[in-house]
Amino acid sequence: MKIKFFGTGHGVPAKERYCQCILVEVNGANYVFDVGAPIADLLHREETPFNTVKGIFVTHLHADHITGIFHFLDLASWYYRDVEVEVYLPEKRGVETLKMVMDMYSGNDEPCERIRTYCYDEKLCYRDENICVSAIATKHMGENNLSYGFIVKAEGKQILISGDLKYSLEDYPTVLDKENFDFVIFECAHFEPAELLERARNAKTEKMALVHVFPLSKYDTFKNYSDTVPFEMIYPEDGEAIKL
Ligand SMILES: [Zn+2]
Ligand SMILES: [Zn+2]
Repeated sequence: MKIKFFGTGHGVPAKERYCQCILVEVNGANYVFDVGAPIADLLHREETPFNTVKGIFVTHLHADHITGIFHFLDLASWYYRDVEVEVYLPEKRGVETLKMVMDMYSGNDEPCERIRTYCYDEKLCYRDENICVSAIATKHMGENNLSYGFIVKAEGKQILISGDLKYSLEDYPTVLDKENFDFVIFECAHFEPAELLERARNAKTEKMALVHVFPLSKYDTFKNYSDTVPFEMIYPEDGEAIKL
């Protein structure tokens, strides 16, 4: 399994980072978690066929997690006609808005049947021959379960993608204390580094990647104190990939 960081940034522009967009590649198929980066351009630049994208999972509807989806799906609807993709969005209005925008782009053509869009909640359980994805509700968008993190299982490994969290880690994913993970991708915009370093002391993971960091000065703090947690901390840049 390969994890590729197309976008490691937070919503406020940073010079060498797009907004959050993470690809998990299993057996040549790509699964995209958040689409804050211009994924259509990035796939094209690295000569990754669009039809390798089988699933798109959006943690929540803030712009820094979704704006790249529109260009990709528009191209998939009329140009890259071998794309078949399932898209999972939280909130009905996310699904409705996506349909409306697609209608606007296409001039009210029939909806593209190769793009299947679903509204998910904490019962999400996506499964295909490569991967299994389930959702964990966060409080980032309030108390009504409109934002999520994901647990991804593939090739006998388990990954957690935190999604955006509430201030001060009130909704820290406690599953990290209970289950073993091979890799964790954690956002770092909504709490102080000391709060995560303290809270994650019992996290059962081999490795944690910090993304969605704001302000960027937090990187230095994390790097200075990384030996206080019992796992390896990494700081991926855009374009980096790791193999698990
Ligand atoms: Zn957000
Ligand atoms: Zn965000």
